[in-house]
Amino acid sequence: QAKIQNGGHQFFNERIINTFLRKLDVENELRWAIAKNQLTLYYQPQVSASTGHLEGMEALIRWNHPRLGSVSPGEFIPIAEETGIIMDIGKWVLKEVCAQLNSWLSASLAVPAIAVNLSARQFLVPDLASSIGDIVRQTCCDPQHIVIEITESSSMNDIESVLPILHELKSIGFQIAIDDFGKGYSALGYMKQFPIDILKIDKSFVQELTSDSKSAVITKAIIDMSHGMNLRVIAEGVETQEQLKYLQAMNCDIVQGYFIDRPMPSEQLELRYLKGVWS
Ligand code: C2E
Ligand code: CA
Ligand code: CA
Ligand code: CA
Repeated sequence: QAKIQNGGHQFFNERIINTFLRKLDVENELRWAIAKNQLTLYYQPQVSASTGHLEGMEALIRWNHPRLGSVSPGEFIPIAEETGIIMDIGKWVLKEVCAQLNSWLSASLAVPAIAVNLSARQFLVPDLASSIGDIVRQTCCDPQHIVIEITESSSMNDIESVLPILHELKSIGFQIAIDDFGKGYSALGYMKQFPIDILKIDKSFVQELTSDSKSAVITKAIIDMSHGMNLRVIAEGVETQEQLKYLQAMNCDIVQGYFIDRPMPSEQLELRYLKGVWS
């Protein structure tokens, strides 16, 4: 009896220690990821629900490490936020997106706006808007071509400090999207205060659309409300034909998800989706 208890205890400790060591390892390696050129951006298409035409794309970070292999953003982004490394990563992402936009535009390709994810932590820096404005100016990129995605739950609890930053971003010319809408707690109150262009319905709703009538009712209500406020709606996590049909019937504007396409390298997106403006 005592032996089993002891064994269980040891196993428990070992798990905690391994989790801790992995986190430390990821954190230490992450500090070098930019300098060592280990980060890349993938792009996931966002298409019109009615016509299937490309309406936008979301830049999603990928980290390939020689020893750790491919580490998911779900693992390293929270660590980057905790340690502050997200500041440098955020700047890198934006520069990279601007460079990509410039390269596509100079090749006369018809390219829609690119969405970039911003962490709540980045909003804690008072000069956020001017620092990303500077990056975009330095790269001669048109801010109209960039959508800033912010997550609902993370940044909304501090409306007084977030609101002026959002207005500043808007006045520079960026579009603003609310990410993961409906996930966690939802405060509808800020919807009328925030200068938002796009609302992204969280994939948990989309995934329950066909099996749970309540999810369907909520999704329809979110779409109608958004249209009433002149917002475009993107449904994320669309994985099946059936989900797409539901969303079409609900007048959802734009869809994004594995059923349409996975996130992919820029070259692949260019080949599959971008046409020259003269062709
Ligand atoms: P997110 O912003 O909600 O991004 C959508 C996630 O859903 C992506 O995961 C995408 O690959 C995945 N996805 C797309 N279609 C489907 C689908 O049909 N089904 C399912 N199950 N998933 C789908 P990913 O690329 O692993 O990114 C995870 C999260 O990491 C993102 O969630 C975002 O919060 C964060 N992230 C990614 N790139 C960046 C970045 O550059 N900066 C910051 N701050 N965060 C980022
Ligand atoms: Ca996002
Ligand atoms: Ca999302
Ligand atoms: Ca998210």
